[in-house]
Amino acid sequence: MRHLQNLHTHTTFCDGKNTAEEMVQAAVAAGLTAIGFSGHSYVEGDSTTMSPDATAAYRTEVLRLRGAYAGQIAIYLGLEQDTHSAPAAEPYDYRIGSVHYVVENGLRLCVDDTPEELCRAAAEAGGWPALVEDYYAAVAAAADRTGCQIIGHFDLITKFNEEDRLFSPDHPRCRAAALEALRTLARREVFFEINTGAMARGYRTRPYPAPALLREIRALGGRILITSDCHQAQHLLTGFREARELALICGFRETMQLTARGFVPQPL
Ligand SMILES: [Zn+2]
Ligand SMILES: [Zn+2]
Repeated sequence: MRHLQNLHTHTTFCDGKNTAEEMVQAAVAAGLTAIGFSGHSYVEGDSTTMSPDATAAYRTEVLRLRGAYAGQIAIYLGLEQDTHSAPAAEPYDYRIGSVHYVVENGLRLCVDDTPEELCRAAAEAGGWPALVEDYYAAVAAAADRTGCQIIGHFDLITKFNEEDRLFSPDHPRCRAAALEALRTLARREVFFEINTGAMARGYRTRPYPAPALLREIRALGGRILITSDCHQAQHLLTGFREARELALICGFRETMQLTARGFVPQPL
């Protein structure tokens, strides 16, 4: 059976616009064979993440939906585990390991909230190459810190950098930092997502990671899956077609899909 699924989705339990049930109904209507929920793990002081109470309610609701929609769609209980969160106490079907913050001069600064905060992070770091190095050092450690199966939005640091308006990812230090993180992660049992989330929200015209990084992942034998980091039901499959074409251009022939038997490859 051919699978069409999205494992990176958010709901009103964190910063999504739709309830989990609305997302499931939209997924059924769109012909998905599975949907995975990946609510934001709790980060103290960040209201876009799930508090401990919200996390408990999220788990209960996703598991209820799994039973209620059995036979119509497979539902997986996942978590987008930030590297600044405490390890999850409860089991999840899968985890996406993500870096959303850097720490500069003792300040925790978000890299994907606003361009202003990102620029502040660069100033605190002592310049863009230094910030990019700090970011990718955190990404390189994400698999070990979170125990994830999927690396979330590998080059999120470029979210506000369309047309390289803030920094050049080709700067030797930036490029070296990204490649070092890729090589470290390629030695772990993790998959890289091609994430179209910033396209749906109008920040970018192409998915994460950049094509040069995707080619490097391919050369390292890394494996991919396509997600839309969905915060609104209408965007469940936004950018999937472009992401698939990009994957093919970069040399991939398979995508990973979560099944009852775990992750399995499927032809693109
Ligand atoms: Zn994220
Ligand atoms: Zn996300």
